[in-house]
Amino acid sequence: MCTGSSGIILKVTNSIENMNISTSNSFNEICGAIHIHTTFSDGGVSYEELIKTAQTLKLDYIIATDHMSLGGRDSGFEGFHDNLCVLIGYEHHDPDIRNHYLAIGSKKVHQNSKKPQEYIDAVKKDGGIGFLAHPAEKRHYFSNLPPYPWNEWQVSGYDGLEIWNQMSDWMEQIRSYLPQKISGFCS
Ligand SMILES: [Zn+2]
Repeated sequence: MCTGSSGIILKVTNSIENMNISTSNSFNEICGAIHIHTTFSDGGVSYEELIKTAQTLKLDYIIATDHMSLGGRDSGFEGFHDNLCVLIGYEHHDPDIRNHYLAIGSKKVHQNSKKPQEYIDAVKKDGGIGFLAHPAEKRHYFSNLPPYPWNEWQVSGYDGLEIWNQMSDWMEQIRSYLPQKISGFCS
């Protein structure tokens, strides 16, 4: 069953039956989206809207990771919604809002962890796994929307890196779009 974040891998494995995925073939494709923000932090949609959209897109799973919030889990949104598995972690950051870390399976939001190594260790000790979020983000085109790359590379114990992030990519691509719009306005 997919009813909680602890023991997440075991639960996802056990959830294959719920997801109508054949176990008779050697390979299965399980499609989902991770690192999603909702109105519990700076996202634009509620959980109800998010779940409805994911179901419309026929995703198998989503993992929502609001900034410093497990509000969606506390509100009971984690679990199966028909065939969609909804897992809820959170995105931790340091006091300067830098060094974002996707914490999945952590029992709580570690408000008091101040240094990246401390919150990496805290999530692991809590039974969770974690990924360095948008570690090479650039986007230097808007002063009010600066990049948030990972800066503390001496850390250890994390489980992986985020290698592509739609928001980061969009922000970086918009550089080539803006001058056209600006020149359009000027012509
Ligand atoms: Zn982030």
